[in-house]
Amino acid sequence: MNITFWGAARQVTGSMHLLTFDSGYKLLIDCGLHYERGDALELNDSFPFDPSSINLVILTHAHIDHSGNIPTLIKRGYTGQVLCTEPTAALVENLLRDSVNVQLAESKSRGKGGKKNANKLEVLYSQTHVNTAIDRLVCFQFKSKFQINDQLSITFYPAGHILGAASVLVEVVEDNVIKRIGFTGDLGKLNSKIVVNPEPMPNLDYLICESTYGNRLHAITIPAEDELYKHVKKNCIDSPGRLVIPAFSVGRTQAILFTLNQLFVAGKLDGVKVFTDSPLGIVSTKVHEKYQMYLNEESIQFAELHNGLFDFPNLLVIQSESDQKALAYHNGPSIIVSSAGMVEGGRIQQHVRDNIQNPLCTILIAGYCADGTLGHRLMQGQSTIKIKSKEIAVYARVASTDVFSAHPDRDGLHQYISDSNSSQLKQIFLVHGESDGIDEFQNYLSTKGVLNVTIPSKGDSFLI
Ligand SMILES: [Zn+2]
Repeated sequence: MNITFWGAARQVTGSMHLLTFDSGYKLLIDCGLHYERGDALELNDSFPFDPSSINLVILTHAHIDHSGNIPTLIKRGYTGQVLCTEPTAALVENLLRDSVNVQLAESKSRGKGGKKNANKLEVLYSQTHVNTAIDRLVCFQFKSKFQINDQLSITFYPAGHILGAASVLVEVVEDNVIKRIGFTGDLGKLNSKIVVNPEPMPNLDYLICESTYGNRLHAITIPAEDELYKHVKKNCIDSPGRLVIPAFSVGRTQAILFTLNQLFVAGKLDGVKVFTDSPLGIVSTKVHEKYQMYLNEESIQFAELHNGLFDFPNLLVIQSESDQKALAYHNGPSIIVSSAGMVEGGRIQQHVRDNIQNPLCTILIAGYCADGTLGHRLMQGQSTIKIKSKEIAVYARVASTDVFSAHPDRDGLHQYISDSNSSQLKQIFLVHGESDGIDEFQNYLSTKGVLNVTIPSKGDSFLI
């Protein structure tokens, strides 16, 4: 059989890996949106293979760079099912619906800018394609082997990262030989807030491993609640200030709300109001509550003891105009958690704009911000910043923390690979990493004696 890397190859988005068996059977692992360099609509509207020739799609987790192009695959002729875990199915439904709304909004704003072209593609897919995608989802439990046919079986292993995220063990019988191929999907780091630890897949022949932070070391070694409290104390207890935290709607928002709930229970949030403002975050939080049995032991115990995970008296979930007014007129110390994480789009932009000239405010960047995003520009410490084409002076402080990072760092990835019996692996393929970082990670692994490592470029195919 062969494996072809059609996405997340020397980049971090557009995850899409194709296994073609000798029999001609085609298995696609993830089908994510590609949004690096170039026109997102053009990049995602066609496939380098015939979608109708794919027999089965496996989805590792709900993030849009892994799931977001499934509706296009269906629009272009894919007629099969999409296998995933139950929480992933619940999250991906909301994310895909949101993806259509984002595309429609972007299309509208392009129209307003006078650049609208009647012949140009405006959106990748419609809610109807999303509905069909949702209908095709088939859910499986973790660690329960599912025999697809005589030749192929699939097992999901917990990957950490976000609720429901799975690594996928693909077992294929060819010429009476069993080949065991493991796709990590995106991994979480050990002892993350709310999610479980990643579990390496056993006895692999081949490992396709994510490398997002392969050239980075997380700075923080203290527990998340201590790290977050440090910022809360400085900004909201010792001074009557405001902490604005940009957070992704799925995973990061819930990890931060849970940690704030822990601080509340510990009596460390007295007099501090918490606002959360993210429509997608609200529905994602509900999915986390429904599937809390998939979260880590700390969260499950907390939920039992305190009758829930995310709700506490100091918290106001902004859902109506009057909630927005309550935030606007609140003068005491407060925390705002809002999406999107990189301060690009979403309601966070407005909160940043409203608070950026307040010297008593700190904008706490709690995740990765890609080059060129507003979050990245804030972290560079610029004295003025352009928001919605207006240049504004920055008087607020900007701080950052990687304590809520959803990916392992270099040492975490090395540990994961070692725990996957790297000496027995015939080949490790590194994917899902920026080009420079992934090269650095390969070099680092070679210094540790892990030599059987390949970094595929987009379109590279290997006989395995
Ligand atoms: Zn992810």
